[in-house]
Amino acid sequence: MSTRSASYQDIVRATEQPGCPLCHIGQKTAHSYLDNLLWGSVNDPELRAELDKLLGFCGKHSRQMMTFQGERLGVAIVHHAMLKEALRRLQNVDAPQSRSLSQRLGLRKSVGGDTPPVIEPAGQCPVCAKQAEIEARALDALVENLVDDLDGPLREAGGLCWEHLGLALQRCRDEPTQAALVELQSAAWSELVEHLGEFIRKRDYRFQHEQVTEAEAASIGQSIEALTGQYPPVD
Ligand SMILES: [Zn+2]
Ligand SMILES: [Zn+2]
Repeated sequence: MSTRSASYQDIVRATEQPGCPLCHIGQKTAHSYLDNLLWGSVNDPELRAELDKLLGFCGKHSRQMMTFQGERLGVAIVHHAMLKEALRRLQNVDAPQSRSLSQRLGLRKSVGGDTPPVIEPAGQCPVCAKQAEIEARALDALVENLVDDLDGPLREAGGLCWEHLGLALQRCRDEPTQAALVELQSAAWSELVEHLGEFIRKRDYRFQHEQVTEAEAASIGQSIEALTGQYPPVD
């Protein structure tokens, strides 16, 4: 199976459920990555060296590790090592006085102005990197097959979230695809705006006798997902 057709199948499957299909694909990718890690490769030397440099995964993916029921040992092993590395840098055990405390912590001092100092990122979280790679392929498959094919399923799913819409529009190679995506997304969000408006209106005491529909109640969570993407549920 070619990469493109695998990505196409991913998109088709992801549009079968409500919500941004790219978020679903990203979540699935992160889930598989962390699942493999927790069930077998927490001691993989190459990964551990990378994680040592980064002091672990990003906040989102570190927390996602806690959603794997019954696999706390792997999370404990990774964070035991990461916290020891943080301590090592803080205490400068290996190379006394060779580097300043700020250097050891990766602290970048602000140059004038009111900008507070920041910790420089030592690289990209490997789960974020994997997600971005898989999502990029899926986005290409989506825009290549949007018109007259994935247009309907994507509409049915409620379109993309704000971030994935931006990335998809960037990857459109022709005007008709871009126009189709803008039209589809406008229709999805117009409906969401209408449902939210109705929910708000029916909270007014003058209209409280009117029943809030299921779609109107669901629109609050959907609007958050539309603007910020979907996150895995936490236990
Ligand atoms: Zn998304
Ligand atoms: Zn991450």
